Amino acid sequence: MITLPDLRSNTALLKLDLYCKGIRLDESCLVEEDGGRKILRTRAGLGSGLEVILPGDLWTNVPVTEHFAASSPYTLHREAGRYLLRWHGQDVTAVTLSPRPGWCDRATSTGKPMTRIGTLQGTYLGIYQAKVCEYWTAKPAKTNCKFCSVGLNLGLDDADDKSIDEVMEVVRAAREESGITYVDFNTGHYEGDTYLDILEPFIVRIKRELGLLVGVQTPPHRDLRRYDHLREIGVNRVSFCFEIFDRRLFEEICPGKHAEYGLDHYLEAVRYCATLGRKGPRGEPWVTNGEIIAGLEPPESSIRAIDWITSVGAVPTVCVFRPLTGTDLQRAQPPETEEMVPIFRRLFEACMEKGLPIGVAPNVHVSLVMLPEECRPFSPHRYPLQTLKLRAMAKVFGRRFHRRLERTGAEALVAQEGSRYAGSDRDSHPQE
Ligand code: SF4
Repeated sequence: MITLPDLRSNTALLKLDLYCKGIRLDESCLVEEDGGRKILRTRAGLGSGLEVILPGDLWTNVPVTEHFAASSPYTLHREAGRYLLRWHGQDVTAVTLSPRPGWCDRATSTGKPMTRIGTLQGTYLGIYQAKVCEYWTAKPAKTNCKFCSVGLNLGLDDADDKSIDEVMEVVRAAREESGITYVDFNTGHYEGDTYLDILEPFIVRIKRELGLLVGVQTPPHRDLRRYDHLREIGVNRVSFCFEIFDRRLFEEICPGKHAEYGLDHYLEAVRYCATLGRKGPRGEPWVTNGEIIAGLEPPESSIRAIDWITSVGAVPTVCVFRPLTGTDLQRAQPPETEEMVPIFRRLFEACMEKGLPIGVAPNVHVSLVMLPEECRPFSPHRYPLQTLKLRAMAKVFGRRFHRRLERTGAEALVAQEGSRYAGSDRDSHPQE
């Protein structure tokens, strides 16, 4: 049973509970007028909510428009210019609106709104590249994943045709004005496994011209050697969203993924890519993520998935199921927070036990998921040696990254970032 003192003292629990319950906005709130981000119908096919920063620098995206948010115990109020979060009418904490930089209100030189090219998710730039996932247009019947909103969204919040120059213009603006360090590309399934061919020219330009960290989230290519090439061109993260570890539920909820690739190929891609860290350009970090959605299968199954992913050297990304409006699962209930806590506790503990590099990327705060390192308050274990090692890694990596930015001619931005984001280090990600 969650209590007010729990919520006040444990911001990780608050972040998790807000995912599960959503929030109601009081009439006093003036989110956009106060410089906050617009509530999009969706972000990366998953989130649709209000972007705020909780105490402890926890960035989050809180459900607002989904049915369950209408009965949430949480309300947000604007008082004396501050935003206050209440639970059953009692003050929990003040929160900060995630800032909306100027570029979010501008168009590219080709006339497209920049937010239709890419959106800020926490502190990184997410780009859903290319056309809609073909599971949404499959004949004779759609085979899209039942929780997914990507096919509802394209053409509304996302542009379906994005040239390299348009993307570069938005990445530069996000780098200069928002201090982003990481760009995340996301695609659905395309016949012929063309997603990596589509993304590679974008990746090469970003690495060469800006030196930023780049990640790729696509289905698992049938030729796994393609990931050796991604490693060679400097990609820093690959993520495979198999969502569900329970085979029967995977088939039922993700029919397209099941028919096209199958759960075993997803797992093999995770396992294969996790071995590539030893190869590739020196100084380019590499992480492999296996992504699941907690709340779509029994908690024990999610925990089994976490244990399997970490056993092969990959880092789990664990989303909380959100029944998005308009999706096949829109009438489903979100999971109970109490059922989620053991999953996120295991997420932290398994990563620490396996010595995985969590929380070492500079200035990567993620609003759509609980990052493994954010789940530390759920565990009674402190892992002092591993904690020291991770701090040292974060320092070394941060120094190297800034040197690289200098080499790519971004000295002015380094100074800007150093003052704006001193001391922050996070890592992780959204979903296809
Ligand atoms: S593969 Fe990804 S984009 Fe396509 S339906 Fe499933 S979750 Fe949505």
